[in-house]
Amino acid sequence: MSTTAPRLLQVRRSVRVTPRMVRVTLAGTELAGFGGDGPDRRIKMFFPVPGQERPAVPRATSGGPLWPPGEPRPAIRTYTVRRFDADAGELDVDFVLHEGHGPAAAWARDARPGAWVGVSEPGGRYEPDPAAGFHLVIGDETALPAVATVLAALPGGVPAVAFLEVADADEEQDLPGAADVRWVHRGDREPGVPLAEAVRAADLPAGSGQAWLSGESACVRDLRKHLLDERGLDRRRVYATGYWRLK
Ligand SMILES: Cc1cc2nc3c(=O)[nH]c(=O)nc-3n(C[C@H](O)[C@H](O)[C@H](O)COP(=O)(O)OP(=O)(O)OC[C@H]3O[C@@H](n4cnc5c(N)ncnc54)[C@H](O)[C@@H]3O)c2cc1C
Repeated sequence: MSTTAPRLLQVRRSVRVTPRMVRVTLAGTELAGFGGDGPDRRIKMFFPVPGQERPAVPRATSGGPLWPPGEPRPAIRTYTVRRFDADAGELDVDFVLHEGHGPAAAWARDARPGAWVGVSEPGGRYEPDPAAGFHLVIGDETALPAVATVLAALPGGVPAVAFLEVADADEEQDLPGAADVRWVHRGDREPGVPLAEAVRAADLPAGSGQAWLSGESACVRDLRKHLLDERGLDRRRVYATGYWRLK
């Protein structure tokens, strides 16, 4: 956890981006000074427990985070800064409404204007390598918010290809940038399997590429190994994060 206390923000509005993705716009006086610019910026979100209006958040002290005594601890999950607009004072987070009954997805499904949530300082180290011969971007629905920011940050004039697994055609989104985007539809198959098949079967551009990949953890592990061992990518140019675990 960062040394700064999480900011308490309120929902300004929420809209459906696709049938299974909701965009929640957060705002509030505590958003001032938020450092959310850049590709793939991650935040910890603190969700209230049922029956609670505001989540308990820790106070930053020199001895570490101090939780308010006697209050139930929030559910904490990691999400992506989809858009931060300092002038409008707005932070967008896109939530997949998955069927696993988690507290974060449930909160997003029901989020009404005025609902409170805590947000940490953003982290994340990914930057496009200007020397890369091509860019490879791989992910599932949970990765789409970050993928959008990664594609927007890629340099022009360098080949870029994205493999994106979603449930079906209704979950495809318009994405920025000039990458060759290949949508992979999961249908009834296990998450990550169609994505791994598509990447393994692909002809990739020549040269030494940089890869960004995220999604279901086992799939990410498998594809990272594939990119290193079978495609010969340099491990310093493969940026892989497991986002969730199929149980
Ligand atoms: C760096 C990072 C950035 C992320 N950014 C985003 C983002 O911008 N948007 C986003 O939607 N997610 C994002 N995620 C993924 C998100 O944190 C997880 O999906 C998280 O588990 C959701 O919490 P929950 O409370 O809804 O479910 P949990 O309580 O964590 O899990 C409950 C059950 O749901 C299952 N489950 C969790 N996620 C999924 C899923 N996507 N599909 C199917 N089953 C699932 C679990 O296997 C478990 O059985 C990100 C993760 C990381 C690490």
